Amino acid sequence: MTLTTPLSAFVRDVPDFPKAGILFRDITPLLSHAEAFGEAVEAMAQPVLTLQPTHVLGLESRGFIFGSALAQKLGVGFVPARKPGKLPMPTHKEAYGLEYGSDALEIHTDAFGPGDRVLIVDDVMATGGTAAAAQRLVQKTGAQAVALTVFIELTSLPGREKVEGLPVFSVLRY
Ligand code: IMP
Repeated sequence: MTLTTPLSAFVRDVPDFPKAGILFRDITPLLSHAEAFGEAVEAMAQPVLTLQPTHVLGLESRGFIFGSALAQKLGVGFVPARKPGKLPMPTHKEAYGLEYGSDALEIHTDAFGPGDRVLIVDDVMATGGTAAAAQRLVQKTGAQAVALTVFIELTSLPGREKVEGLPVFSVLRY
């Protein structure tokens, strides 16, 4: 079925979440609508087809949702970048500052290696701190990050500057 409603209609603006002054873009209405979610994944896949990634790296936690759907669409493997302490085997770790707080991401040291081409996927890019940490994680393995793709890019923040040298693709821009 072709969707007649714009994808932006499936994103809900939630003021003051998770704290005062933050306008949170809630993508749960999009995820719960089969055609809208399908169209979003299709729109994320199109610009990266020619980059020939070997893996998708999905960032915890909403990056897992878009990332695993995208990996299946592209016919490549999925690797989770997880919050500290969640992965059972030896990990690389990178800390980052968030729009609201600070955190770190980890990947298994054997997740990928030289010759692998990694597409980093998340739901939203705000300051770019999370994506930049993921980019550093990929570098630590010797693999190449080929692009970052997000569903939503908050263009009022300098996210693209944080992931210097990495092509960035987004479906919706606010
Ligand atoms: P950044 O590191 O500042 O770019 O923040 C991006 C991370 O924060 C992503 O993993 C997002 O899931 C989350 N995030 C930041 N702002 C929003 C938002 O408005 N809606 C949903 N997630 C957000």
